[in-house]
Amino acid sequence: MKIANVSGRLVIVSDEGGIDVETASAGRFGPDPQAIYGRWQAFRAWADHAPSGPATAIDSNELGPPAPGPAQVFAIGLNYRDHAAETGLEVPSRPATFTKFPTCVTAPFAAVVLPSEYVDWEVELVVVIGVRAYQVSQASAWDHVAGVTVGQDLSERVVQFASGGQFSLGKSFPGFGPTGPWLVTPDELGDPDDLELGCSVDGCEVQKSRTSQLIFGVPELIARLSAVLPLLPGDLIFTGTPAGIGATRQPPQFLRPGQVLTSYIEGVGTMASRLTAPPAQI
Ligand code: ZN
Repeated sequence: MKIANVSGRLVIVSDEGGIDVETASAGRFGPDPQAIYGRWQAFRAWADHAPSGPATAIDSNELGPPAPGPAQVFAIGLNYRDHAAETGLEVPSRPATFTKFPTCVTAPFAAVVLPSEYVDWEVELVVVIGVRAYQVSQASAWDHVAGVTVGQDLSERVVQFASGGQFSLGKSFPGFGPTGPWLVTPDELGDPDDLELGCSVDGCEVQKSRTSQLIFGVPELIARLSAVLPLLPGDLIFTGTPAGIGATRQPPQFLRPGQVLTSYIEGVGTMASRLTAPPAQI
């Protein structure tokens, strides 16, 4: 199943278009895309019986993030060997964890303002939690996942590395967390632990890898994070980015106003972020 946030309303994505959940369920489930994760198992049980309802064509510009208001957003650094190598940093022995503050989450086709000339791309598989997970095993980890979506962990590299490392600030400017285009449940994916992902800038491919190359895969991330604190329904985990970021290129390459950053994951979908300059100072 795929679900989407269309103009702030929860829809099931079918071949014919979007089916409004509140309407199709006669009000049993409300329109709030974030609230559905708090009732995920009941929603799945209902939705698995193919709700019928009028389907409406989905305009990509009306898509919002599939989990627009997460309580917690986890992000993992240095989680692909080739990316750790390009940064010259050691592969960590446990997940290098930081947060992207939730206000950075934005729509899959939104314009993103570049606050400086040092904004970099990081395509990532993003996991959305569907069932509260606290001290869960790797074996049961996927059972706590509502689904996955495409994410960009946009990063302002100067702020990120200032004062000994300010990862959470440097990665949390408004718009620095595009996600979408929708959420895909794990059962829709042949092998949810082995998906091709990549991104391009103005059509020029800059990153391409597979999630099977993750050092700490989704089950291990959920087990290790939930060993410390509960993961809540609707929380996001940005699982890390593969090689090909701009900052370590020779010369370094950063995003420029007017460019389009297109990101995809096999079997999940594609999103496109338009980069813009800040409004002129008066
Ligand atoms: Zn990242």
